Amino acid sequence: MLHPTSGCADARSAADPCYRCDLLVGLDGVHVEHVDRRDGLLIVTVSTPAAPTGCPLCGVVAIGRGRRRRVLHDVPGVTRVRIVWRQRVWRCGDVGCAKKTFVEQLPSLVARRGSLTRRAVDWAIGQLRREHATIEGLRRQLGTSWKTVWRAVEPELVRLAADESRFENVTTLGVDEHIWHHVDHRKRGPKELTGMVDLSRDSTGKTRARLLDLVPGRSGKAYASWLSERGEAFRKNVKVAALDPFAGYKTAIDDTLEDAVAVLDAFHVVKLGTAAVDEVRRRVQQDTLGHRGRKGDPLYGIQTILRAGAENLTDKQRIRLTAAIEADPAHDEVFVAWQCAQQLRSAYHAKDLTEGRRIAERVVDTFHTCPIPEIARLGRTLRRWRSAFLAYFTTSRANNGGTEAINGIIELHRRLARGYRNRENYRLRMLLTAGGLTP
Ligand SMILES: [Zn+2]
Repeated sequence: MLHPTSGCADARSAADPCYRCDLLVGLDGVHVEHVDRRDGLLIVTVSTPAAPTGCPLCGVVAIGRGRRRRVLHDVPGVTRVRIVWRQRVWRCGDVGCAKKTFVEQLPSLVARRGSLTRRAVDWAIGQLRREHATIEGLRRQLGTSWKTVWRAVEPELVRLAADESRFENVTTLGVDEHIWHHVDHRKRGPKELTGMVDLSRDSTGKTRARLLDLVPGRSGKAYASWLSERGEAFRKNVKVAALDPFAGYKTAIDDTLEDAVAVLDAFHVVKLGTAAVDEVRRRVQQDTLGHRGRKGDPLYGIQTILRAGAENLTDKQRIRLTAAIEADPAHDEVFVAWQCAQQLRSAYHAKDLTEGRRIAERVVDTFHTCPIPEIARLGRTLRRWRSAFLAYFTTSRANNGGTEAINGIIELHRRLARGYRNRENYRLRMLLTAGGLTP
């Protein structure tokens, strides 16, 4: 015989509902009274078991005043799920008490004014964090509004972001900037954001990059004031600070992180070398043929070959490189510049760090005297960054690569959301997807 209220054959009475229904729904602290499927929804009616309740103000035993139906959005399955909570309403037993009536609360089921169940909020955060979900996608799955989902998720992210313990144990710190919007800065504030990334290695020596924060602006000042906010203990803990060749961030590191070694990012140094070769090629191209490179010009044909590492060139590419250089004696300059860039590159590819450092020192000591102006300028840049450039070889290859990886994640999620209007929401969402918050 089916139970009249639960509709379940196993339930014996309203006061003793079926444990199998409870098990299937799996909500702690409530019994399943009724399960229904209609209009593409799974509707589960629940209530708390009867128990004597005291007034939260005076403690006098309260008197039941019936129920209130509250509809909650729950984690969707095959269909969307609604939890109908028959919430108990109470009245204080003491007529003189100021409390009058009150409604039962069950924080393990739902927040005081929430419309998503506690577990639906956790589910949504997990989807945003790990599954490339968007608020719009979650809204659709839950069958509610964008605002409802964000209002449920936001306080949780704010709470996690405010937890200073997430800044503990940072020994290697990376910094980089990115553009977060392309509209008028008077509307949405500065377009640039400076991002701080934890690049510390775990016990196995692996770097697990995690975004620590995003602050407006691209300046040494933005970075320095964030560092001062973190406090003495944090700053003392940072031993290595990786950065791209941007003097502002370098000044911030020198001024606020006295115990840290600044390390210039290897990828960017190699890129400076490649850029110098490109400039020489374009200049020689102009000087010899009087126009920009085009199809059929020897130097134009080797521009991608010049950007590659020598060890990666095929025999065919080597032959093409030689032929292009030999086409004109003026092309020798391009070849010399290319060899310089390859030498710079080889410092990072050397088998051991001692050998790498030896090459790097030679580069710093010789490039600035090179008769090729572009290489001499590169040499002067490297001399200016000397200690940060050489620090790579004494910090067992510390680099800013993890920060670039984080920027990739940020870019992907900004596109998935089709841009952001609110910088604080952007910060919270990016912190969540880029590993800065641990639910
Ligand atoms: Zn009372």
